[in-house]
Amino acid sequence: MSILKIIEYGTPSLREKSKEVIKVSKKIKNLVSDMLETMYHANGVGLAAPQVGQNLRIFVVDVSDPKGPIDPIVFINPKIIKKSGAINSYEGCLSFPQAYTNVRRYKNVMVKALDINGRPFVKEARDGILLARAIQHEFDHLDGKLFIDHCRNRFEANNVLAKYNLPPVEEDRLIDEQFLEDEIVEYEKNHPEEVEKLKKEIEESENSKQ
Ligand SMILES: [Zn+2]
Repeated sequence: MSILKIIEYGTPSLREKSKEVIKVSKKIKNLVSDMLETMYHANGVGLAAPQVGQNLRIFVVDVSDPKGPIDPIVFINPKIIKKSGAINSYEGCLSFPQAYTNVRRYKNVMVKALDINGRPFVKEARDGILLARAIQHEFDHLDGKLFIDHCRNRFEANNVLAKYNLPPVEEDRLIDEQFLEDEIVEYEKNHPEEVEKLKKEIEESENSKQ
């Protein structure tokens, strides 16, 4: 096992569409082991193969308590088969050191994938829990999409990126998600205490990197 170099925002290969894994070979298993080691080393909750320079449809997540035992989930050739609801998610990415911003995500997702033994499984994550958001974040990496493409406020995102000397949001990459934005705004209007809670969490925590 070895720790791999994590590619940073601005590198063209992060924007490429990744290829399906044909066979979960020994080579793929070794790559997954290295990805897990790299993710834990970087204190991340998720890592996608393109982030370590391999444009293959693989990602790993571990949203378990960092103080408890590890609980990695490996997704090979994942497909999101159901998604619904909308939520504000405050996200960072291992390819964007230190930069966090508010993005739009679905609240509930169901994903089908192959595990490390090449066996199919289905995973559901509801209510906007970290797993639901991490799955969407990592899945995007396989299509060359990045969390900032979902930003709720381009100016806020650009300010954060500039602070860390990262290139600005690419306007033509921004995803039109007005329906998600409308639902988030409506939710926030009816649940001001949730907005306050999130604000506090953002201020207090370092948040998790993906
Ligand atoms: Zn990421």
